[in-house]
Amino acid sequence: MITVDYHTHNIRCGHAQGQIEDYIRAAIRLGLTDIGVSDHNPAYWLPGDDPMPTVSMAKSELEGYVDETLRLKAKYAGQINVRLGLECDYVEGMEDACREMLARHPFDYVIGSVHWVQDANIFHVRRWDGVTDALPIFAEYYRLIIKSAQSGLFDIVGHSTAMTAFAPKPLADGIEALQDEALAAINDAGLVMEVNTSGFRKMTTEPFPTFRMIAAAHRLGIPLTFSSDSHRPEDVGYARDRIAAYFAQIGLGGLATFAGRQRIMLPLHEAASEPAMAAAAD
Ligand SMILES: [Zn+2]
Ligand SMILES: [Zn+2]
Repeated sequence: MITVDYHTHNIRCGHAQGQIEDYIRAAIRLGLTDIGVSDHNPAYWLPGDDPMPTVSMAKSELEGYVDETLRLKAKYAGQINVRLGLECDYVEGMEDACREMLARHPFDYVIGSVHWVQDANIFHVRRWDGVTDALPIFAEYYRLIIKSAQSGLFDIVGHSTAMTAFAPKPLADGIEALQDEALAAINDAGLVMEVNTSGFRKMTTEPFPTFRMIAAAHRLGIPLTFSSDSHRPEDVGYARDRIAAYFAQIGLGGLATFAGRQRIMLPLHEAASEPAMAAAAD
């Protein structure tokens, strides 16, 4: 049984529904032991206070986001571990600005995500218009994922096949080799990889990353965690039974959890029978 969800959004980013507390309550209803609050970071690499109001919170909102999450962490202590996180864009060349932003707040963990490749969002369908050879674009995507893993800024690699969701199919030959190269770099950098079930909501058949890549990551020894990438409270824990069955199939023994940017492995069999022990281990 999977009892954690390390990736949720809320109303602040401008494209998710519900308050942070709605996601926490949803997690408690499911009996989760850990709920990660991980809204999109403010666009630290752009000028102005709120450069992308439908993508991410304003710079001036970050402090309120942190304060509210910490208040809720205290309010729900004993019921569920509320973890203060952030889904943070990796932007090449802006590492110092990112590091300064992250250092100002007591995050439990930070998900590093590549959302912007060659100035276009990875989920933007029209970015593929007129593209005859997608492989160089994927090569750039995985180059950035590798740099994000090596940056030392992040704890978890976010949705590492998300760019394939709206890419023209069949996918270019050679993508798997790029993915395997990224896995080797993620392993060397010692990061955790999330298994993000928004893939099912965008691709219908696979999480992010794909089952092939999850199995390959597990073989390498890359720790995994579970995430729904919820943008609605009702999506907390999305498809966790399906992923739990897959984890059992590949023999995964535990999931990565975080407190104070330290990784704590939560045994999967104990998660099924002794949720109180997981809370006590914090
Ligand atoms: Zn989002
Ligand atoms: Zn994302």
